Amino acid sequence: MNQIFNTPVVYLKGVGTARADVLKKDLGIESYEDLLRHYPYKYIDRTKFYKIRDINPELPHVQVIARLTYKEIIGEKNTRRLVAHVQDDTGVMELVWFQAIKWTEKILAVGKAYIIFGKPGSFNGKAQMAHPEVEPYSTEALKRKGNLTLQAVYSSTEKLKQFTLDTKGIQRLTATLLEQHSRDIQENLPLYILQKYKLMPRVEAFRNIHFPENAAALHEAEHRLKFEELFSIQLKLLRNKMTRTQKFKGAIFEKVGDYFNEFYEHRLPFQLTTAQKKVLKEIRQDTLRGVQMNRLLQGDVGSGKTVVALMNVLLALDNGYQACIMAPTEILATQHYHSIKALVGDGFIEVALLTGSVKQKDRKVIHQKLEDGTLNLLIGTHALIEDKVVFKNLGLAVIDEQHRFGVEQRAKLWRKNILPPHVLVMTATPIPRTLAMTLYGDLDVSVINELPAGRKPIETRHFYENQRLAMFGLMKREIALGRQVYVVYPLIKESEKLDLKNLEDGVEVMSREFPLPQYRISVVHGKLSAADKEFEMQRFVKGETHIMVATTVIEVGVNVPNASVMIIENAERFGLSQLHQLRGRVGRGAEQSFCLLMSGHKLSRDGKKRLDTMVMTNDGFKISEIDLELRGPGDIEGTQQSGVLDLKIANLATDQQLLMLVRDEVIEIFYKDPQLALPENQILHHMLTAKNGGLSWDKIS
Ligand code: ADP
Ligand code: MG
Repeated sequence: MNQIFNTPVVYLKGVGTARADVLKKDLGIESYEDLLRHYPYKYIDRTKFYKIRDINPELPHVQVIARLTYKEIIGEKNTRRLVAHVQDDTGVMELVWFQAIKWTEKILAVGKAYIIFGKPGSFNGKAQMAHPEVEPYSTEALKRKGNLTLQAVYSSTEKLKQFTLDTKGIQRLTATLLEQHSRDIQENLPLYILQKYKLMPRVEAFRNIHFPENAAALHEAEHRLKFEELFSIQLKLLRNKMTRTQKFKGAIFEKVGDYFNEFYEHRLPFQLTTAQKKVLKEIRQDTLRGVQMNRLLQGDVGSGKTVVALMNVLLALDNGYQACIMAPTEILATQHYHSIKALVGDGFIEVALLTGSVKQKDRKVIHQKLEDGTLNLLIGTHALIEDKVVFKNLGLAVIDEQHRFGVEQRAKLWRKNILPPHVLVMTATPIPRTLAMTLYGDLDVSVINELPAGRKPIETRHFYENQRLAMFGLMKREIALGRQVYVVYPLIKESEKLDLKNLEDGVEVMSREFPLPQYRISVVHGKLSAADKEFEMQRFVKGETHIMVATTVIEVGVNVPNASVMIIENAERFGLSQLHQLRGRVGRGAEQSFCLLMSGHKLSRDGKKRLDTMVMTNDGFKISEIDLELRGPGDIEGTQQSGVLDLKIANLATDQQLLMLVRDEVIEIFYKDPQLALPENQILHHMLTAKNGGLSWDKIS
């Protein structure tokens, strides 16, 4: 196909080996295509002067001529800022500075006209610009500013700038590439798609994304390139799903036998929710088809995924297969082991726990029993996928809290059998629909969208430091009622020492406030040995301690229904999904539970928004949508490590509609032409093999 696309960038005029090196190191640009797909991150609109009335946050950087009517420095320490108002004949706009406040205040004069240049935003529904450039209005200034172009701005680095690869430098290279090779840039979408969706041809799109003729052309170019990017991903995902269902046979669990029935009728301690039943049905159908199941089970924390997984395990056993459950941490694996053992461990089925800290001698026994088939269910951590672990007949692998595992590890499990086992992936971090469609577009998705009956929504409050006494009060009240309390501290690699110190200080304060013998405290953090951690955890689980002070090791999956208070220290430092996970540790019993988010007064805008969101809603899906908005998909947990998602231009938060449209189109294409054999679809074969397109294909299993 496009040979030229893969040409190393070093061959481009103006790029020597030194520049090629930094381009690769700092921007990951290796080929001509990479350079073309190094899209500008913003544009500067100097094509005209905008009227205040016409300004909205959708616009790029724009310029305005307006008169200053007001200026004042307001706010206390951390929120101190300079606010100014400017006015033209159409309206008023607010300008705000958080830095260089004094200096800026001095150069602004009320009554004077200015040329104001910045990125429009809005505050309380009114037009606003933060940190605009301002310059006194004059005819000369007007001439200088009105140079009538829409200019692309590229991200660059200090290093790149040393090699004169700032915005101008990158522009020069892109211009050369487009001048010399535009004939070689081939279309990659079928003509009928271009026509149906009125898409700009590819070369034109590349030209306009880097050198927009005007705002409308830029808009079309963006649309076309987003379309192409999303299309390519969906084409690959859906194609993969198709091949997999054709290629990978799966065990058929045709029998619903004694294990399942006995459990359902005599051992299940509660009624399944409708959602749990529905998911069981979906799994049942999957495992009847003779095709390998690959199902993602999404359900909010506490929605009861474990029991669904267990019943799926029992189905496997009924059909003569073994099963395994893999969890990301030792604590979580152990927790699963205990709760499953409590339900079926009395000789009903044979269960074992395998983690890094299981002794060699015990390991040998487990290996032996796995191979001769006497062990039905193995629960554990990564230790499960070591080569020494050999099953006699693995029929089902359940993977809990999937985002912690690399996809490579998922793939390893598959190879544990001749027939790949059915795979049920469970995640308690709800993923927005669009993200699921992109990340797991090749999996089938089940959702448990209701909590077991009788749960009261957790009451969440945001407390500032000066409300600590109230926090102690709540703790004491709940402990007096026989409940238990979690206190969680952040622990981040970069500031590990400081974080541990915080925790230690916290423990000290707690022990003073909650002295022995009336109160007992467990402390758990990552520096403890696995055995000590387990010991402390168990003290809390058994109700021997009232308070558990911990770092985020307890984040996933720990289940202590008697705990009714979750206190999160430095809550502003946690991401939304983490906060939601942590909160999910309480509210598992019938009583009212509480979550207190402790923070200092100094909060960033996003930090505040995160805490507000937590106070406002308990709905994990809603939270995940806001998370996606705040952070962008690249930062959503799991996507970074997996490196699967590398969107260059489309945005999963704002381009949801386009994604749906594209996905439907691709589904239709495969429906009509599964092998892409029609002449008009030939072009798509290139896309399937192309290296780029937002997806490192080999990483998806
Ligand atoms: P998660 O989905 O977060 O993994 P768990 O499977 O740990 O949730 O379940 C949370 C708690 O709810 C457990 O104590 C479990 O026994 C209980 N549970 C699960 N399903 C139901 C149900 N249908 N009715 C009542 N309690 C349930
Ligand atoms: Mg769980």
